[in-house]
Amino acid sequence: MPLPAIRNGTVKRCKARTKSRNLEQCLCPAAYGTTVCNKHGAVHPDKRAKGKSHGNYKKGAYTQDKLQQQTEQIAVLRNLEDALIVLGSIDNRTRGNKPNGYKDIQTLEQVGAFLLELENIKTSD
Ligand SMILES: [Zn+2]
Repeated sequence: MPLPAIRNGTVKRCKARTKSRNLEQCLCPAAYGTTVCNKHGAVHPDKRAKGKSHGNYKKGAYTQDKLQQQTEQIAVLRNLEDALIVLGSIDNRTRGNKPNGYKDIQTLEQVGAFLLELENIKTSD
């Protein structure tokens, strides 16, 4: 029987399935900020191991910080490509998914704003 708070719908329920109860959903409430209870491996998001302290860390090429950094760099490159298309230097766009944080550039004013922003990025590094 689940706790009253779960039956009311005020608390999220653990999403884990238990073998002992024929793969039914766990009856415990989910821990804060997670989808499972403490018996099924919940770790507070602030205490979760990240970067070098994570167990699967090897060379650091796929850490969340590194992937975010790569996404930002790809967005800058894609904006440069947009600027060249607006200025008429190139015709075709490179294929692929749009990176997060990418804003389409279609006018000369947007090209100017992007170049000013790029100058700020270069001077801040
Ligand atoms: Zn559970």
